[in-house]
Amino acid sequence: MRKKIVAGNWKMNLDYTSGMSLISEVLNMVNDEVRGDQEVIVCPPAVLVYSVAQLAKGNPKVSVGAQNCHEAESGAFTGEISASQIKSVGAQYVILGHSERRQYFGETNELLAKKTDAVLKNGLKPIFCIGETLEERNQNIHFQLIKDQLAEGVFHLSAEEFAKVVLAYEPVWAIGTGVTASPEQAQEVHEFIRKEVAAKYGEEVAEDTTILYGGSCNPKNAADLFAQKDIDGGLIGGASLKSRDFTDIITKFNK
Ligand code: PEP
Repeated sequence: MRKKIVAGNWKMNLDYTSGMSLISEVLNMVNDEVRGDQEVIVCPPAVLVYSVAQLAKGNPKVSVGAQNCHEAESGAFTGEISASQIKSVGAQYVILGHSERRQYFGETNELLAKKTDAVLKNGLKPIFCIGETLEERNQNIHFQLIKDQLAEGVFHLSAEEFAKVVLAYEPVWAIGTGVTASPEQAQEVHEFIRKEVAAKYGEEVAEDTTILYGGSCNPKNAADLFAQKDIDGGLIGGASLKSRDFTDIITKFNK
């Protein structure tokens, strides 16, 4: 059975003190609300990954992720962080291909395929983000774009490797805008993604693949989104910075 996940992407927010307060609050609040088939992932800025992972270590329901990594193992890449370094400080996940990385840092599917390999090679799991801009949706090319993002970013993996990947559908027009995809719009794309996975790796792998929705997800709209048959949770940006909102979203699986 596939895992239900709520992952928080703190982006470039919070300093050490406020980050420690937030993770402490989240750890105090989540315990009773997370079922056995559910997982909570917190993805702080890189400088906080170690400290957050230290605090989360004793909690089997909460994992920690980074927001990006370099594709190389090590070397002269000033300012960059490798997957093995992320692994060494106690994280389990890395977000890859977030639209902000694609848009502001020019990350391509080809580069992301290499980053995916680095993440898996180091025993971490990628949360691989895909999704279209409003312009691409209006041009009705979003299904082809998502197909290409999958084919070029992750479909080079073996079935065994792919089983470790969490996918996140994040329509760019919904990220940080307050405009959420309707449950029907999101479900339509999630179903398409699952069919693409089935065509590549077979029905069984597709059924076991966790596909998160991301884009202005909050405690008010999460229940309707999570009730869709192909939506297995959320990648949460803004609402993950408030412990009550973030932990409220986790409870929406149960409704
Ligand atoms: C995100 O950054 O992945 C995201 C979904 O942001 P927000 O929830 O703020 O739209």
